[in-house]
Amino acid sequence: MNFDLNEEQKIWRKTVHEFVAKEVQPKAHEVDATSEFNWEATRKMGPLGLLGLNIPEAYGGSGVDAISAAIALEELGWGCGSTALAIAAHNGLGTTPLVLFGSESLKSKWLSLVSSGKNKLAALSLTEPGAGSDLQGGVVTKAVKEGNEWVINGAKMWCTNASIAEYIITLVRTDAKGGSRSLSQILVPTNTPGLRIGPAEKKMGLHGSPTHAVTYEDARVPLGNLVGEEGKGLQQTLSILDGGRIGIGAISIGLAQAAFERAVNYARERKAFGKPIADQQAIQWMLADAATEIELARTMLYKAAWLKEQGRNYNKEAAMAKMFATEMAERVCRNAIQIHGGYGYSSEYPVERIYRDARLMTIGEGTSEIQRLVIARHVLASE
Ligand SMILES: Cc1cc2nc3c(=O)[nH]c(=O)nc-3n(C[C@H](O)[C@H](O)[C@H](O)COP(=O)(O)OP(=O)(O)OC[C@H]3O[C@@H](n4cnc5c(N)ncnc54)[C@H](O)[C@@H]3O)c2cc1C
Repeated sequence: MNFDLNEEQKIWRKTVHEFVAKEVQPKAHEVDATSEFNWEATRKMGPLGLLGLNIPEAYGGSGVDAISAAIALEELGWGCGSTALAIAAHNGLGTTPLVLFGSESLKSKWLSLVSSGKNKLAALSLTEPGAGSDLQGGVVTKAVKEGNEWVINGAKMWCTNASIAEYIITLVRTDAKGGSRSLSQILVPTNTPGLRIGPAEKKMGLHGSPTHAVTYEDARVPLGNLVGEEGKGLQQTLSILDGGRIGIGAISIGLAQAAFERAVNYARERKAFGKPIADQQAIQWMLADAATEIELARTMLYKAAWLKEQGRNYNKEAAMAKMFATEMAERVCRNAIQIHGGYGYSSEYPVERIYRDARLMTIGEGTSEIQRLVIARHVLASE
């Protein structure tokens, strides 16, 4: 693997960084304070290709390579955790199932529509009130065939983007007998009668990323809205989550980078005992550790993305990168607050928001505990 970015990737990073610095980062405080999703910036992301990162050009996307997709989410994370999560969920969770498994007619109907920036986005709903980590055993939302339709009944939880999505790809049980071949993914347009999106959840952070419970009461969609194969929903979901984990890792690196930059600046400016606190070895060590861990997480993450791009198995590397990057971001953000002293605890300083936003990352798209299970499975299988 070449550890330097190629010219195209470098230009892409610069382009996305400049866009985020101008359109996303200056609004991050307001987005957090008002819980308003940043539509203004999102509209402009369509033409830039940020809403079709994984979508081939033939379907209206930018179809960038996996490292470039990670770079985009890293830069968005640097600018605003809320906006980054919504865009990551749209790309990694909402559009990827169609790209990888969707029928030709689903792809041509929906992909260019949700990647243009002129319409709403996409969402994926796996989690339920009683099922998160254990989707195979826990999902009870069901879909049954009636004539040429699926009839869906059940309740989902924690659906990112539900209220700003054109459709929700929903994980449902299609075989009441259970087992690993009993789940399927079905595309449900959000204007389907019987689908109800609850109010936005009140969360610790990521206030500008709308998260909702969703209920389905006799929601009917055509049989053709099945995404991929009937009974393969669990397997499809797991491969989608491998890619999604690179996305969450990337956001975490961006959040850590932003907190780190604030900490460096503050340490240079703040004086105590007659000199800048940056002159104190205790502060220098926190900054040195942060710089090292950010660099390491980025290298691991790009390696996972590179393996993905090569078409090789990257399940273990994605889990490692997600686990390390998300836990690293918590440490770096925690120390960025420490370096700011009392001011770090104030919502006037961005490190407070960044810390709250980072907290989700060890939970969403597979908790740290689940990442360790995945990694351990690989480690033990090879011995
Ligand atoms: C802001 C936000 C956005 C989200 N967006 C989406 C979304 O868009 N779509 C979606 O489908 N879901 C989404 N989720 C849900 C998220 O993916 C789940 O919360 C996560 O997968 C964990 O599931 P759970 O909350 O049910 O926790 P549980 O699975 O109940 O886990 C609870 C605790 O037990 C631990 N645990 C569980 N099983 C094991 C085990 N075998 N070994 C060790 N420890 C274990 C977990 O690690 C965790 O610490 C979102 C959640 C949040 C908070």
